[in-house]
Parts: sequence; C-alpha cells; structure tokens
Amino acid sequence: MGSLTGRFGLVTGVANRRSIAWAIAKALARDGARLALTYQGERLLDNVRELAAELEGPLVQPCDVTMDEQIADLYQIVGREFGGLDFLLHGTAFAPRAELSRPFLETSREGFRIALDVSVYSLIALARGAAPLMAARGGGSILTLTYLGSDRVFAGYNVMGVAKAALESSVRYLADNLGPQHIRVNAISAGPIKTLAASGISGFGGILQAYRERAPLRRNTELEEVGEAGRFLLGPESSNITGQVLMVDSGYHVMGI
Ligand code: NAD
Repeated sequence: MGSLTGRFGLVTGVANRRSIAWAIAKALARDGARLALTYQGERLLDNVRELAAELEGPLVQPCDVTMDEQIADLYQIVGREFGGLDFLLHGTAFAPRAELSRPFLETSREGFRIALDVSVYSLIALARGAAPLMAARGGGSILTLTYLGSDRVFAGYNVMGVAKAALESSVRYLADNLGPQHIRVNAISAGPIKTLAASGISGFGGILQAYRERAPLRRNTELEEVGEAGRFLLGPESSNITGQVLMVDSGYHVMGI
C-alpha cells in the first residue's frame, strides 16, 4: 500500500504523455491515489482517455477552465464519486501564439486577458470549488506549475511571464485564505521541458541549451523529477509547507551570469 492509498485527487492539464501534469499524476497513482483527470475539449478526449486507462478507477471529465459551468459540473461529479478531495493539481496555462512571438510591448489587451484568465484565474476558480470538498476531508493540498519567467526576462516568454508572476502571488494569497481550513497551496517552478505548451514559445530550444550549459547540475529537468516533487507537495510528507514556490530546475535560478 502506498502513502496515498485512500486519497482522492483532481488533476487538470493533461494533454498527452509529455504533459507535466501526467508525470505528476503517474507519481500520485503509483502511491495509491485515485484520480480524476480533466480534458480541455473533445480534441483531447482520446489522448486523456488512453492515459487514464493506465490508472486504477479514474474519473475522466471535461473542463475548460474558462467556463464556470464546466468547473461547477466537474466538482459536482467529483463530490458525488469521491465524497471529498485530498488534492488538486492545477496544470493549465495558455497564451495566444502571437503573444509569444512579437515584442512584449505589442501585447494585445485580448491576449493579456486570455493568458491571465486561463493561466491564473483558473487557479482561483478551481481552488474555490475544491475547498469545501477538501474541508470535508479535514484539509488538502493544491499545487500549480510556474516558471522562472515570472521573475526574470526570457525573450519570447512575454505575457506568460506576467501571468506566472500573478500566479505565484495568487499562491500566497490562497495559502493565507485556505490555511485555516488546513488546505495548503504551493507551486513548482520547473526548468524548461519540451511539451505541447512549450512548443508555442519561440526560442525554446535556446532556453533548453542555456540550462544545460549554465545550471549547476549542467543538465535539463526530467519530467519524472517534477512528478516526484509534485507527489511530495501534494502528499502528507509536505504537511507544514504552504505558500511556497519550489524550484525544480537543475539549480539554474541561483546563477548570475
Ligand atoms: P501541456 O501543453 O502538456 O499542458 C498545458 C495544459 O493546459 C494542457 O493540458 C491544455 O489542455 C491545458 N489548457 C490550456 N487551456 C485550457 C483551458 N482553457 N481549459 C483547460 N485546460 C487548458 O504543457 P506543460 O508544459 O505540461 O504545461 C503544464 C504547466 O507547466 C503550465 O502551467 C506551464 O506553464 C507549466 N510549466 C511548463 C514548463 C515547460 O518548460 N514545459 C516549465 C515550467 C512550467
């Protein structure tokens, strides 16, 4: 029996086998957790169904995080099937491709709105829905995924950097709001990994290479390493950690030049 046997979790942000959310889901399932996976639209349903087939008794539910009704329906089903929730992984982010290729100065009002809605407001909305289900279990853990572009300039990361700064700030405010209910809120700031979302960032290959050359560990971050860190922050071993951004990036963030 794993340390998460008898625990229930909700995982958003699985698009395919390369998704960071899938790496974390696998680590959680390996420890015995029962999971609900969400998919964004019919386009991704087959992918997510195929991956879910590798888990024990998964729920698979649609959830476009920009739609309040879909979030409400999701929690209704999760509440009915699981009777409560022990953890939530928020793995969704998006910015229109044009915003990631032109100069940041040219960021459009609509592009800004979409990036912040999908990548940041969704954490607040999902946390609000999870809170009563977690409170019913005596507490819980919420985790989101961020990047160093929140704090430093990476050419091409643009409005996603602004969104990640707002996301990290939201982690701290949510940690304060939800702490009295024994609900923890944290983020992992992962080093660059080739995923579907990363393919939209111009110059991503150069970022990967810079980490390999300059990070203290002189290599890139593996999906499984983020998976294990996610399992730690969502599980009982991290019971006194909240409001934290944990760097899982080969140590790149400590470097000057
Ligand atoms: P990914 O493309 O596999 O995951 C992004 C997910 O967001 C997808 O599952 C997609 O369906 C979902 N999504 C987008 N819009 C949505 C919407 N409206 N409703 C519901 N879901 C929506 O890529 P990933 O790299 O695994 O990204 C996961 C998270 O990790 C993101 O927050 C990303 O910013 C973050 N991150 C990625 C890296 C990296 O280098 N890949 C590094 C640090 C942080």
